[in-house]
Amino acid sequence: MSVSTFEVDVLARCREIVEDPAFTAVRRWKEAHPYQKVVGCYPVYSPIELVHAAGALPVGIIGGGNQVEIAHADARFQSFICSIVKSTLELGLTGRLDLLDGIFFHSICDPARNLAAVFARNFPNLRVEYIHYPQNLASPTAVTYFRAELERIRAALAEITGRSIADEALHDSIVLYNRWRTRIRHLYELRQAAPEKLPAAEAYTLLRAGTLMPVEEHLPLLEAALRKIPGRTAKRQDRIRVVVEGAFCEQPPVDLIAAIEQAGCYLLDDDLLLGWRWFTGDVPEDGDPLEALATSYIDRSVYCGTKHDTRAPKAAHLVQRVRALGADAVLFLCAKFCEPALFDYALYRRALEEAGIPHLFLEFEEKMWIFDRARGEVETFVESMLFG
Ligand code: SF4
Repeated sequence: MSVSTFEVDVLARCREIVEDPAFTAVRRWKEAHPYQKVVGCYPVYSPIELVHAAGALPVGIIGGGNQVEIAHADARFQSFICSIVKSTLELGLTGRLDLLDGIFFHSICDPARNLAAVFARNFPNLRVEYIHYPQNLASPTAVTYFRAELERIRAALAEITGRSIADEALHDSIVLYNRWRTRIRHLYELRQAAPEKLPAAEAYTLLRAGTLMPVEEHLPLLEAALRKIPGRTAKRQDRIRVVVEGAFCEQPPVDLIAAIEQAGCYLLDDDLLLGWRWFTGDVPEDGDPLEALATSYIDRSVYCGTKHDTRAPKAAHLVQRVRALGADAVLFLCAKFCEPALFDYALYRRALEEAGIPHLFLEFEEKMWIFDRARGEVETFVESMLFG
């Protein structure tokens, strides 16, 4: 694969942004826009259109990765807890989140719920908003309930930014984010059609950078990628084609994603950074924009370990996704101690076994540096599939 200005300029810049725990790119934006606010979004899903419509910058606060030493946060939590909760608090306790004017947490699991309370107690000057997502998506009142919750968030954002959010502004933000998510979907389609041309680690880096910059700046990067990647010359190798499941909240190190690929997999699809590509189709651009967001959450969103939709079992979604993509196997990449991912794994495993779809389970932590063991397990799995 030839190295071009795209690799050097765009991908290298994205990697620098993604692996910078000081959020320098966001700080620069804030200096250049002193009257605009920055709102942190903890995984999984946050209504970023509302933040954008308020004139603020939504920023993904997705843990510290392997760039942050946990020195203070450990003492605030029990032992058996996922890394992202601790590293996010560490980012706060070490002043790295002082650029935020507000932050969203959500009702996705007990650790995230507790983290919201810990933040509210430790950072009294930071506006902490806890979004209550509907638990029963099949309820006839789910849309009404969630629309009201989004209305409450709209009011909170107006207090943070000092400016109210008109329906027209929200409509414009929805249109812009629809465009952005369409490009992301195209990127995934491109990868599925020719995975040798777009390694998952590159796609991930490109996407993750978008959680740390204005959508208006990220759109041209995505569009450059969509123009550039089809023309790459890369020979398809003898690898298995997998769907990655379980990494919807805490994110694996980029080098782990790369190691899995190098061990003999093409990653056709994954649930990385799911909250930023939450909707399966466009959010309706006509009618009441808050209702459009609420109905999209309930009727047009991806299945996820943190979402409980009794109308369609998650395991059936996974099997259907594997079949639709013509994938050979599923790779479970679950954060250590992530309850939603581990609970789901039991259901997924049974469904995959019934469907005759092979799978491999791997656990990761943010702060992994050595990938030899994971790589070895994947290599053995791949060999058993290719030559077994
Ligand atoms: S990684 Fe899992 S357990 Fe930890 S906050 Fe996220 S969803 Fe909750």
